[in-house]
Amino acid sequence: MTEKLLETVAVKLLQLAVTELPQDVKDALQRAYREEENPVGKSQLKAILDNIDLAEKTCAPMCQDTGVIIFYVTAGSQIPGLDKVEAALRKATAKATKEIPLRPNAVDPFTQKNTGDNTGRHIPYIHWNIVPGDTLEITVLPKGGGSENVSALGMLSPNQGTNGLKKFVVDTVIKAGAKPCPPTIVGVAVGGGADIAMKLAKEALLKPLDQPNSDPELAKLEQQLRKAANSTGIGPMGLGGKTTVLDVKIDYAHRHPASYPVAVVVQCWAARRASARISSDGKVEYLTHRDA
Ligand code: SF4
Repeated sequence: MTEKLLETVAVKLLQLAVTELPQDVKDALQRAYREEENPVGKSQLKAILDNIDLAEKTCAPMCQDTGVIIFYVTAGSQIPGLDKVEAALRKATAKATKEIPLRPNAVDPFTQKNTGDNTGRHIPYIHWNIVPGDTLEITVLPKGGGSENVSALGMLSPNQGTNGLKKFVVDTVIKAGAKPCPPTIVGVAVGGGADIAMKLAKEALLKPLDQPNSDPELAKLEQQLRKAANSTGIGPMGLGGKTTVLDVKIDYAHRHPASYPVAVVVQCWAARRASARISSDGKVEYLTHRDA
């Protein structure tokens, strides 16, 4: 697997992610449009769907904020050249910024200087997962600032339990209001520690919307939270309606007996993600965008 191949695939993933939503997200938005009863909310969903259509047809980003670039890499331990992956993903990010183009979104927090190419210290961020096998799976998640800004971490007390979790999630959705460009997808994680919960909550945003949680109890909790969030009436773009969230996705880790961290990471309607699998013989399969 050459650095050039990795770079080419990563540029393609960035282009696919920002110009074309995965089918499960488009299906969820279309369903929301069919079911929305509030005329203003419905008109917002229509505008969102038209925007998605236009982005696909013109191969232009669906939103001006193309996000901070985050990669998830699941690497088979037998793949040679894993040391080339980070350099390839950084180069791909800079190249995609120029060619697609992406908005430069990497700013030094002290000098306020924008690097201009979406690369910087720890950015793009790469999450690594080493597994048995000889394939490499890359997922890109361009994460918009508006939705990221309403993420929340609650270090709850264990005696608050699931009811405390429910209240924290719904309060976060209410507090966020229109800011994250609803309808949103809400990633929730409980347990671990502060960092583990936040990581799992963001990773939960990668789960396809048409696949229910494999744990029936968590699937039930997701449904309850979705219903509660949608009863707030915030609606599409915060202008009223019954579609505030498209889905809630939950993950968890075992926790310290004295801790009950609950993380909420919100994703806007522009729920962009794209994945590809590269085999050791160089064969590339695009997983979220089958026609690519
Ligand atoms: S929250 Fe999402 S849809 Fe809204 S401006 Fe940011 S990236 Fe775009």
